[in-house]
Amino acid sequence: MRILSAEVVYTGLGTPIRGGAVVLQGERVAAILSREDARRFYPEAPVTDVGFAISPPPVNAHTHLDLSSLPPFRGPYEDFVRHVIRHKRARGVAAADAGLAELQRAAPLAFGDIVADEAAMRKLLQTPGLRGVAYWEVFAPDPAEAEAAFSETVARLRAFRRLERPDGLKLGLSPHTPHTVSAPLLQRLTRLAIAERLPLQIHVAESPAEAALHRDGSGPLFELMRPFLGDWRPSGLSPVQYLARLGVLEARPTLVHMVHVGEEDVRTVAKAGCTVVHCPRSNEALRCGRLPWELLAKHSVEVAFGTDSKGSAPDLDVTREVAAARALHGAKASPIALVRAAVKGGSRALGLTPPRFGRGSPARALYVWQTPSAEPRV
Ligand SMILES: [Zn+2]
Repeated sequence: MRILSAEVVYTGLGTPIRGGAVVLQGERVAAILSREDARRFYPEAPVTDVGFAISPPPVNAHTHLDLSSLPPFRGPYEDFVRHVIRHKRARGVAAADAGLAELQRAAPLAFGDIVADEAAMRKLLQTPGLRGVAYWEVFAPDPAEAEAAFSETVARLRAFRRLERPDGLKLGLSPHTPHTVSAPLLQRLTRLAIAERLPLQIHVAESPAEAALHRDGSGPLFELMRPFLGDWRPSGLSPVQYLARLGVLEARPTLVHMVHVGEEDVRTVAKAGCTVVHCPRSNEALRCGRLPWELLAKHSVEVAFGTDSKGSAPDLDVTREVAAARALHGAKASPIALVRAAVKGGSRALGLTPPRFGRGSPARALYVWQTPSAEPRV
């Protein structure tokens, strides 16, 4: 017998245990209980404190593997967009291979990947043993090009669908943002996703400039986007309310970032049953601000974690993302909520069955978090 103890023990079911322990007999789980009870009931068993958490494997619910060769960037969001365009040749299958190798190095975790490179998508869908969703990214801001972009997307998805395998990634769809995909195209893609049961993921309310663009067509993001927008007009709504008005939330898309949101936006998202992906290190690097964790918690919105791309995050380790969230939100986000979000929230974001372990499970079902957790600031 031996005991592994951690600040948080989460089986994937119910409420995580603060100051928990897992008792192992050989290579099987014999008991899951508090640290104190483990010492009391198994006084002879050696105790190893593994640090932050023991849980089923966490999920990286949002990344862009085909951007893994992008030089790291820090600065305002709209300059990051220029940076991605400037280095568009760095995007591709070699970058996706490198990203996947990095992602899988520690343990084979489920992930949600936004893919803009066709060869990378083909390869990802054909790779056996991967768990998660590969979302094909659509970018077409001018309403005049909606028809052509929709036809092209349908043809591509049809070809990708043939490559899906039972033991591989599922195909999904990602309209890039509410301002880089025109309203008519957003509506058609939403109907397509519902009809074809395609998981949907979209970046929304990421930067302050995005909010200004939708509110009144002002700000640095509007200046950047202006040549591509055709006769687009600002809706006067928040990005979230704009998506709601277009019916996009009816497909229950996973919403990435959700930083610049008010309580009405959060209520709308809660009512629609969407999961939110939190990428705190990217938000910090691109000066996007702090996701209102406590507001999402107040309205019981499911939250997951994602690293975003290596262009705006130093690595693809989702446990470091959680450590960054802990430092950022302090007492506003409890450690048990953070672990639950990384495991169960991540699975929900990708439409997967949340993993769990219990008495009798093999020890390999446990994920021991290696990342030393950052201490809360407050
Ligand atoms: Zn992203």
